[in-house]
Amino acid sequence: MEFTAADLTNYFKAVIEMIEEQKDYLCALDRKIGDGDHGVTMSIGWQAVNDILNEDLKDEEDCGKLSMKVGKTFLNAVGSSVGPLYATGLMRGAKTVKKKTVLNDQDLVDYWLVFTQGVKERGQASIGDKTMMDTFEPFAEALEAKFDETNEFIPAFDHALSIAKKGMESTTGLVSQKGRSSRLGERSVGFQDPGATSAYLILAAFLNYAQS
Ligand code: ADP
Ligand code: MG
Ligand code: MG
Repeated sequence: MEFTAADLTNYFKAVIEMIEEQKDYLCALDRKIGDGDHGVTMSIGWQAVNDILNEDLKDEEDCGKLSMKVGKTFLNAVGSSVGPLYATGLMRGAKTVKKKTVLNDQDLVDYWLVFTQGVKERGQASIGDKTMMDTFEPFAEALEAKFDETNEFIPAFDHALSIAKKGMESTTGLVSQKGRSSRLGERSVGFQDPGATSAYLILAAFLNYAQS
């Protein structure tokens, strides 16, 4: 497929809309094992992104500049742990698509792989720690493997998304090892991780947009 800076903008707008819809749900999940603000922190960040998309980035054609500015905006707007995590993903992804006005399938795969690697390096969480990495890491592994094998982007992403969903769901049975919820120890078992949930929704919004 061909993904332009306008597509990237529209995808980010779909995320902004989705986060508003899921805000209360994400806060409810965070109330079980955290401080109850995950929907609010994501909303604050993505609303700041919305403002910048409508202003400075309105006519931006470089996907790299777009993702870089979105990441920086998110970082500056968000005080909680997700701020630097998503910002790093968006800014690392930006570097792989630097100066590109149109992204092809390989660029999109690279973007998501580098995005995931950035979040991982920033947060130092691995699969099993009960964080957003339980969604992103298996997703990225599956996307890379399936795309290498088939060279078909949408089916590969669709497959990887189903793996991401399983990863998200797996967090319910896990003991938190990272972030605020790790203070609960064994008491964190039985609840799905809010960050793993929003990560899945962000990926699902991408497939939804790419298929539209
Ligand atoms: P805070 O815990 O500061 O209130 P949020 O509620 O916005 O932040 O986000 C919490 C989510 O952040 C968790 O559910 C988890 O998925 C994610 N998270 C926390 N620490 C890390 C980390 N080190 N690496 C990856 N994700 C993390
Ligand atoms: Mg929180
Ligand atoms: Mg908080």
